[in-house]
Order: sequence, then structure tokens, then C-alpha cells
Amino acid sequence: MYYELIMPKQKKIEKKKFVKKPKSEKPKAHAESGAAERGKKSYALLRGMHDILPKEEKYWKAAYHTAENLAEHFQFGRIESPLLEEASMFVRSIGKGTDVVDKEMYIFEDRDGNKVALRPEETASVVRAYIMHGMWNMVQPVKMWYWGSMFRYDRPQAGRFRQFNQVGFEILGDADPVQDAELILIAHNFYKDLGLPVEIHINSIGVPEERQKYKTALVEYYRSKRSYLCDDCKQRLNKNPLRLLDCKQERCLPIKEEAPQIIAWLEEESKNHFMKVLEYLDELSVPYVLKSTLVRGLDYYTRTVFEVYPVMPEGDESALGAQSALGGGGRYDLLVEEMGGKSAPAVGFSLGVERSVSALKQYLDAQQIKFPTQQVDVFLAQLGDQARRRALKTINELRTSGVKVAYNFSKNSLKSQLETANNLQVPYALILGQKEVQDGTIIIRDMESGVQEIVDQKKVEHLLKKKLSRFDVNAK
Ligand code: AMP
Repeated sequence: MYYELIMPKQKKIEKKKFVKKPKSEKPKAHAESGAAERGKKSYALLRGMHDILPKEEKYWKAAYHTAENLAEHFQFGRIESPLLEEASMFVRSIGKGTDVVDKEMYIFEDRDGNKVALRPEETASVVRAYIMHGMWNMVQPVKMWYWGSMFRYDRPQAGRFRQFNQVGFEILGDADPVQDAELILIAHNFYKDLGLPVEIHINSIGVPEERQKYKTALVEYYRSKRSYLCDDCKQRLNKNPLRLLDCKQERCLPIKEEAPQIIAWLEEESKNHFMKVLEYLDELSVPYVLKSTLVRGLDYYTRTVFEVYPVMPEGDESALGAQSALGGGGRYDLLVEEMGGKSAPAVGFSLGVERSVSALKQYLDAQQIKFPTQQVDVFLAQLGDQARRRALKTINELRTSGVKVAYNFSKNSLKSQLETANNLQVPYALILGQKEVQDGTIIIRDMESGVQEIVDQKKVEHLLKKKLSRFDVNAK
């Protein structure tokens, strides 16, 4: 696990109490900056937008490195597509009648009058790139991964933003169920490596002909129960019957439980495909739950669909942990052709980074596991003007030789600087005072034992590296 590798020590951490703010409170930037009192305008965030602050960095870095590592091992190439694309491309791929297209796309005209959209997801862009760059001529399958911002004009709430990040993996050009299993394994490994237990919810929604027959049966069944349905479901019945299976309203749940299941409408080929995917997952010991009501929100899926859910410790399943998928994906065998390319079966998934980080933090908190802070090798404490000048030079020299140095020039007392060093859990501190500058020496302090030794400044780099090598697993 990521945090075990770099942080063997685990301390108990106190849970912070969440205090809800009164609604009338001014936007944060305005209220806290004191700008109003100074007669200046200050700026708040747009609704649904958020900053990812430095204190979050360790989680984001770990998530990125975990994804990058998996991509390397499973041989996926990184694709970076533009944030802006032709709006019609998303409408065509995701489909009219879906929430993403009908309600959530950021669409506007650019200065030339082209209708463009901020990407609400990246699969469509990956397919566009596959077609545009003639990737069907390459050895198949083509495996690509991405990481970046997506935009959806969603109603902001916990875990739901208007700009958020997704990491995704896509395999194009192969219909074999082993590809579905490989992707589910990668999604599962992503969380396993980060230290968050998850389970996979999985279903098959067949090919369009099978789905059409199923939809007819579903509509027939729901029509007979129409008067008991919630208002949303009454609308879904006419507009998008598969979404009836998404309803979480109390009154619709018993109806949903008795609803016909799509698996009964699958023909031999789709059934076999699904069975093979499940057999691979069994073989790989990837935990999954069969969910006959799982259909996913986008139009382009065929056969396998899946979602990833966090498994929280009992009694700690918050609304976010228990109900919101961290991500999901599935097969989209018809999309490449639908978007103008030569027929190429494909499968992929995307995971929400904000939601994943949030679930990870919640899980670690519940288990009282501390996630590692950024690794620093040494803290440099300085006392006085001359020492500060020399310190900056030393920091730069050590940085060049690969030693990571922390420091704080705003603190002048040795005590408070050593406290910071302690909090950072560095094994060594360097102390540079007036006397050391004049003598050309520097003090190396072992933070655990408190033992200090005075060494020649010219030798500090060599000595420090030698000392630090005992922490380097790879050097042994
Ligand atoms: P989807 O393809 O819509 O199922 O999205 C995949 C994942 O992206 C979800 O499971 C979430 O983790 C994340 N996601 C989707 N929409 C949002 C949003 N508005 N804010 C934050 N994360 C989101």
C-alpha cells in the first residue's frame, strides 16, 4: 500500500468536528479577507467550483502516482485532449435525453460563432482522437489513460462540483472479455494501492436489440404501477425508462425490486461475454456484487457496465461513502463507428478524483491511520542574518545533490524551528548560527536521539547523504 511503503509510523489522529455555517454568511473570500472594511472588492469562487489547497497535495499526488504507476505496468499511453471540443461531439456520443447532455453541459459560442463545450467527460475525446489520428492502423488494442478536469453544470452538493477531475483508462480495438476484466482489475488496484477498500458493482446491459426488448417489458411493468410512482419516475417512464432503475425514492423501491431484470433478455453471446468477465474477476479475486439495476447514465454503453463503491468500516458509511460511486465504466462497442470511425469495440472507465480522495480521507480517519506528509530529508534551522544568507545557499546546494530540505525563514527562534522539524518527522536537522558561519561549520542534529555533531560545511552534503542512506530502501 502506498502509505505503508513510505510511512511506517502511524499515529492516532483526532477527528475534527464539522461545524455547519449559517446560510446568510458572506462568501469566504469576502468575509475572511477583511477587504470590505478596507473598501476593496474581494472575490469568491463561482458556485460549484473549488480550490485544491496545498494541504490536499499529498492525497492528490498519491492518487496521480498510483494511476501513473498502473498505467506503466499495464502499458497504457497518456493522452491529453483539449478541455474545449465541438459541442455536438458530446451530444452525439453521450446522447440526448441524458442528464449530462440535457442539463449539465457548459455550452457556448466562441468568437467565430462555433458551438463549443467544456468537456463533461473524456471518453468521447479519446474516441475522437483514436479516429482522427488513424489509431486503428496501430497494433490493437490501443490503450490510453487520462487525468484532468471535467465540467458539468450540476447542482452543487457534497461530492458534486461543476469542475472536477477524473482519471480514466480506455482500451480500444478488442472485444474480448479479458479486456473488461483487465480494466476492472486496474480500477480495483487503484484503490487497493491507495489503501481504500472498494467493491465493484457489475451488470450487463446487453446490445441495443436486447436492451430495446427489455425496455418494452420494463415500461409495460412500470405502467401497471404508474399511480404508485414518484413524479420523476412518471417522467422517466416516457423519456428514459432505464433510468427508472436509478430511483432512490422510498415509494419506488419495492416496485424496483420486483421489476424485470435485464439478464433475462440477454442472448447467448452477451450472456457468455458477461460470464467470462465474472470468471476472470473470480480468478483475480476482485470482489464484485451483481447489480441487476445498474445501467449507468450515458447512452453509449453495451454489455458490461460497472461502478466502484468504497467499503467503509461499519457505522461509518456516510452519505458520500455509502451511496456515491467513486467511478464507473463499461463496454462501448458501437461508439467508434457511431462517431465516424471504422468499427472498433472498446471498453473503459473513469474515476472521480475528488470523491476518491474524500472517501480515502474518510476511511483513514475512521481507521485512525495517518497518511504520510510529503517526505523531507532534513530541516535547516538558521539563527541571525548572516546565517540566513548562508542557509539559502546551503539549501540550494543540497537540493542540487538531491537532498530535500525544509526550512522556515519567518521563524527566528531555534526552539520553534526545531518544533517544526519535529512535526515534519525529519530524521535530521541542520543548525546554522553566527558562530558556525564564521567557523565554516554546521551542526547536524539527530532528531530522535538529540545528539549533535559539528561538521565542516564542505563535508555536510556527503555526511548527510551517508546518514540518510540508511532510510533508503532501494540503496540496501
Ligand atoms: P460518471 O461517468 O458520470 O459516472 O462519473 C464518473 C465519476 O466521476 C463519478 O463516480 C464521480 O466520482 C465523478 N463525478 C461525476 N460527476 C461529478 C461531479 N459533478 N463532481 C464531482 N465528481 C463527479
